Amino acid sequence: MRGWEWLFPVKCAGCGKEGVELCEGCRLRLVKARQVCVECRKGSIGGRTHKRCCKELGLDAVFRVFRYEGLMQRVIKAVKYRFRHQLLRECVGEYGRRQVFMRVDGVVPVPLHRVRENWRGFNQAMMLAEILAESWGVKVLEVVKRKKATRPVAEMGKNEREREILGAFELVNMELIKGKRLVVVDDVVTTGGTMKEVAKVLKKGGARWVGGWALAG
Ligand SMILES: [Zn+2]
Ligand SMILES: [Zn+2]
Repeated sequence: MRGWEWLFPVKCAGCGKEGVELCEGCRLRLVKARQVCVECRKGSIGGRTHKRCCKELGLDAVFRVFRYEGLMQRVIKAVKYRFRHQLLRECVGEYGRRQVFMRVDGVVPVPLHRVRENWRGFNQAMMLAEILAESWGVKVLEVVKRKKATRPVAEMGKNEREREILGAFELVNMELIKGKRLVVVDDVVTTGGTMKEVAKVLKKGGARWVGGWALAG
């Protein structure tokens, strides 16, 4: 399937205009996300977790770039199911590349399960991590792996989703993260359950500060 997309003209994911993955007009229609505390979901500057909400093994901040609605939902779907690498890159844009956290030592993509990664061909969290690493001058650290196959969380209810994610990740390299400030990267963050689990694993392994970054949320 994948090779065939090259035979067809590229079209804007928003308006269908030919020749671009996302035209300037549609890019400007993407709505910037409101920054909230991942624990209480109330407003917070830069997505920092409120002091009163911080947990020992929790996320210290989560920055969301765009609101996960309308065009952004269509873009994420197009990237996921039609393997639009370049669309993802254009969508992040300059706004998404900004250094929103201080003194970051590395970025950690949320891993896909091996089976799903093979089927889908690529991990969009990994691709976003690469874009950020390049912009921020840091390394991509593939230090977290998925322990067990999880069904796509989109199909699940809230409680089921949280049960499924619990204990899903394991650390594969402790040396790389000890005392470090890390940012967990994913395409979409909703409740933050997946990111919180990855953060827990990193902090248990000795990371000093763990933030999150999501293209949409
Ligand atoms: Zn357009
Ligand atoms: Zn809070």
